[in-house]
Amino acid sequence: MLDSIDTPVFKGKRIKLVNELREKGIVNEDVLSAINRVMRHRFFPKDFQQFAYRDAAFPIDHEQTISQPFTVAFQSQLIEIQKNSKVLEIGTGSGYQAAILAELGAELYTVEYIKPLLVSAAKCLFKYKNQIKLIHGDGSKGLIKYAPYDAIIVTAGAPTIPKVLLKQLKPGGKLVIPIGAERNEQKMIRITRESEKKFKREVFGDFKFIPLVGENGWK
Ligand code: SAH
Repeated sequence: MLDSIDTPVFKGKRIKLVNELREKGIVNEDVLSAINRVMRHRFFPKDFQQFAYRDAAFPIDHEQTISQPFTVAFQSQLIEIQKNSKVLEIGTGSGYQAAILAELGAELYTVEYIKPLLVSAAKCLFKYKNQIKLIHGDGSKGLIKYAPYDAIIVTAGAPTIPKVLLKQLKPGGKLVIPIGAERNEQKMIRITRESEKKFKREVFGDFKFIPLVGENGWK
C-alpha cells in the first residue's frame, strides 16, 4: 500500500486546485468535489508529492504521464455519468482518473497496456476494489467482454476514432476521446450514440496526450 497520509497542507492545496479548475471553466460540482476528495499525491512518486496539486501533467514510470487535473476534470465532466453508470476507461496510467470516476459512482472497467503500471495503479485503487476492475490489454479495441457501456473515456491520443468503440456504447452512451493527426496534439471529441445508428459528434478544445498505441492506435 502506498503512503495514504493526508495533511492539512495537501488539503489546503486541493482546495486551491479546485478553485483554479472552477476559474478555468469546470462547472460540474460533483467533479470538483471528487477532485477535492482524491489524494492525488498518492499517485505520485514519493519524492515528488509536493507537485501533486499543481494543475499540470507529471511523468510517471515507463515514459507515461499522470494527466493534468484540468484534463481529468474536463473529460469527467464531458461523459456526464450518473451513479452506477458502467464506464470503460482506456489508459489506466497512474489510476488517478479512475479514482475520480469511482468517486463519481461509476462501475468502472479500466484497461492498461503496460502491465507494471497497472500493478501500481491497482495498489493505489485498492479502496475502490468493489467498483473498479483493472484489465491488462489493448484498450484500442475496447473491451467487448463487459460491453455495452454508458460511457467510454480514452486518456491517450488516437489518430482516428476506433469504430469498434462506437459499437460498444449503449444507446445514449458517450465516447470522449482525444483525436489528432499529430501524435502529441489533439482535439477533444465527444460522440453521443443517439440511437442504434445515429451518432452526434462535438468538438472541444486542444489537448496534449501521449499516443494511444495498439491495433487502433499509433504504429
Ligand atoms: N488516465 C491516466 C493517464 C494515462 S496516460 C491517469 O489518470 O494517470 C495514457 C495511458 O494510456 C498510458 O499509461 C499508456 O500506457 C496507456 N495506453 C496507451 N495505449 C493504450 C492501449 N492501446 N490500451 C491501453 N492503454 C493504453
